[in-house]
Amino acid sequence: MYSCLFCQIVAKEIPSYPIAETERAIAFMDIFPAAPGHALVIPRRHSADALEAASEDLTACMTLAASVGRAAIAGLGADGVTFQSLARPAAGQTVFHSHIHVIPRHDGDQFAVPWPSMPGDVTEIEAQAERLRNAFSNAEF
Ligand code: 5GP
Ligand code: ZN
Repeated sequence: MYSCLFCQIVAKEIPSYPIAETERAIAFMDIFPAAPGHALVIPRRHSADALEAASEDLTACMTLAASVGRAAIAGLGADGVTFQSLARPAAGQTVFHSHIHVIPRHDGDQFAVPWPSMPGDVTEIEAQAERLRNAFSNAEF
């Protein structure tokens, strides 16, 4: 018995609406869809989020997510796809087994990106870049 909801789906202990699977990852439908055809891609091996997942699981998930996206365009008539992955509560994550949302998009649909498209302050942008470069120079991520 697993306490993690998505581990239970991997183990087929609870039902899902499966779409596709590979050695490392599975794809199934989100049952609270943001749009028709909204799917989730998860690694079979548990990790809390993309920050914690092994690189081979990240690779497998993004590869399968792209396949599901192409299937949404070919099979559902989508015009595009939003790929989304939230990490930690501050980002809005609610299920703590890493996953990628694959949301079919249609020209003119009402699905909105969660930030206004406004130019940033270039001094602040460069300051943030400098802090990130410093983080990279001080450790491996
Ligand atoms: P998050 O908010 O962590 O990025 O995404 C978790 C997703 O899991 C949500 O979109 C939610 O609708 C979906 N979800 C929650 N419970 C279940 C469930 O029991 N089965 C499936 N297939 N999806 C679920
Ligand atoms: Zn899990």
